[in-house]
Amino acid sequence: MNVPEKLDEFRCVTSLTPTVCDLCAVPRPAQCADEPIAAVMAEAAKALAGQKVEKLLLFAPDAVGIHLWERFPEKLAAVEALAPVRVPTRVVMPSVTPVCFASMFSGALPEVHGIQEYAKPVLTCETIFNAFPEAGWNTAIAAVQECSIDKIFRKRKATYISTTGDAESLAYSQLLLKQRPVDLLLSYATDYDKNLHSSGPFSDKALAAFDQDLVAFQKLCALVDEVWADYNRAVVFCPDHGGHATDDTGTRGAHGKDIPEDMLVYHFYRFMPKKAR
Ligand SMILES: [Zn+2]
Repeated sequence: MNVPEKLDEFRCVTSLTPTVCDLCAVPRPAQCADEPIAAVMAEAAKALAGQKVEKLLLFAPDAVGIHLWERFPEKLAAVEALAPVRVPTRVVMPSVTPVCFASMFSGALPEVHGIQEYAKPVLTCETIFNAFPEAGWNTAIAAVQECSIDKIFRKRKATYISTTGDAESLAYSQLLLKQRPVDLLLSYATDYDKNLHSSGPFSDKALAAFDQDLVAFQKLCALVDEVWADYNRAVVFCPDHGGHATDDTGTRGAHGKDIPEDMLVYHFYRFMPKKAR
């Protein structure tokens, strides 16, 4: 992978939490130690005529790192057509799922939120899944049963949907959006990560899962435009880390190291104003 030139422009993954809190006028979690992303705030102000975000969808495709965008620029362009505000993002060490998502959704570094290895305890620090429900936002999380996202954000005032796989996570996300007055939804997808480990980051199976993530994102963007048409809304594409091949033939993959393939991702933000009356 080519290492991007402007590494100092990468924001820490902890910047997502203060950004979405400020966009939605929700107080930041207590341990949040980062600041909002100025470029995102500016684009939102422009797109929403200075109004706040009223509905928020977070789509978190596991392990979709810069290694993929670099190889498939046409797919990068397709995502940017939906969510044009791209934020180069550096994740935290060790670059594994529970550590990174805990930082992403608390705004705190691993030594503060407490998950510093591949482990899935329920987080005791505050996260957006405390802050948003406390501010009156109906909050839901759809993820495969027993995965990091399904476990570490429990014991909050949220609706937890534990699924059997990504197709079901997408289907329940769509059902929730249509049936419930949900204000914040986190929809998670695990298949790319699973296939990266078992058959390599660019294997047919892994790339099929990557494509599936892109289709899911497209469907969710279209659906929120329909069901949330009367609200100022944001959708964020927010993977947790990247990944790399662990053998010369590229038939196995992993992540967790302090290398660009594992540490660098893009987050993408989409803002849509409510329908004019
Ligand atoms: Zn992961």
